[in-house]
Amino acid sequence: MSAELHSHSSPSGDNTSDQLGRVENLLCEHLEFAPCTEHQRIESYDDQLEILNAAHLMATCSGMELTGSLLPINHQNAFPLIWKPREQDGGGPRTNNQDPVAQIARLAMWDDEADKVVQSNHPNMRQMLRDRNLDGEDDGGFAKMLDFMDVIEVHPPEMIFLDEQKTRELKNPDGNRMLPWMRLIASGKRIPGVVNTDAHYNFHGSGALRNWIRCSTDDPAKISTEEMTSRLQTGQIVMSTGPFMRVSLSDPALQVDAQIGDTVSLSSPEATLNVEIQCANWLDVNRVEVFINGQPQPELSRRRSTHPDSFGQGVVKFRQSLPLKIEADSFVIVAAIGERLQLGRVMGEKEGKRQPVVVSNPIYVESPR
Ligand SMILES: [Zn+2]
Repeated sequence: MSAELHSHSSPSGDNTSDQLGRVENLLCEHLEFAPCTEHQRIESYDDQLEILNAAHLMATCSGMELTGSLLPINHQNAFPLIWKPREQDGGGPRTNNQDPVAQIARLAMWDDEADKVVQSNHPNMRQMLRDRNLDGEDDGGFAKMLDFMDVIEVHPPEMIFLDEQKTRELKNPDGNRMLPWMRLIASGKRIPGVVNTDAHYNFHGSGALRNWIRCSTDDPAKISTEEMTSRLQTGQIVMSTGPFMRVSLSDPALQVDAQIGDTVSLSSPEATLNVEIQCANWLDVNRVEVFINGQPQPELSRRRSTHPDSFGQGVVKFRQSLPLKIEADSFVIVAAIGERLQLGRVMGEKEGKRQPVVVSNPIYVESPR
């Protein structure tokens, strides 16, 4: 399923995008699951889908973005939440502008601790994990936020291809969330990554960043919020600007191949990594990289220029089984990019300049019990 987990329109109070237009935008971009996440109030897209006679084309649920100050760290989305139409903020929680930990805890516990997805929006990873006042001295940050968080926004995805050195050379090194995210996972905190547009405009607002979520059905009318919640919480997610990707791990010890989000034990440190990438006919990828514990594996690097036979010209751009050497207590992530390529004018003038990029969430390998 193609999912957008962070969108805005005029009920958010900071833009002039019609909410009906937002829903049209999501539908036209073929987003199949999109919770309503306006700033500071619980809201729903149900009435807009009804007007468009399109409820069967997109699954949704009520939710919100809780928008406290201490930007950018104190913004969190949550869904599903119970919408109470005639109450203040649609029945949603208040912000806590002193303490992002207290705020995210309040959101996570809302609706009598009902199960929900709590998403950390566009965080400054350094501030969250290490340095709350950003004075360059480690002070533990707001790391307690992690205890209440199901998923974390880590866009832009192309940053995964920049190493530490190249990241330090960026005008804003904190703009690379991918490296600290992988370090976080390596430290044992398995918070799945997501990418979202945070769209505040309708025309080409939605669509240029999306999540492919594993799902038991291919029909949006049959998607349940409960299933989306649990798939997100367990990291069965691929992050993308457009390309679609499947990743699985084969090993004689496994009756079925391990999928993204799974934790498995292998018979030996040698397994097979299956990667398939598909693109619509206006975009392409030309480089595939495998990361183990956040480190790129040069021997598994594939480029159209060096491995032309590994890449296809049609819908399937890449379909290979790669020999993977992976020790226990490790995780593997696959990423692909169209270097020197763009999404193109299908995505409009601004977003069309983005590169085609796709990044998987981890498959985890543990020692046999
Ligand atoms: Zn937002």
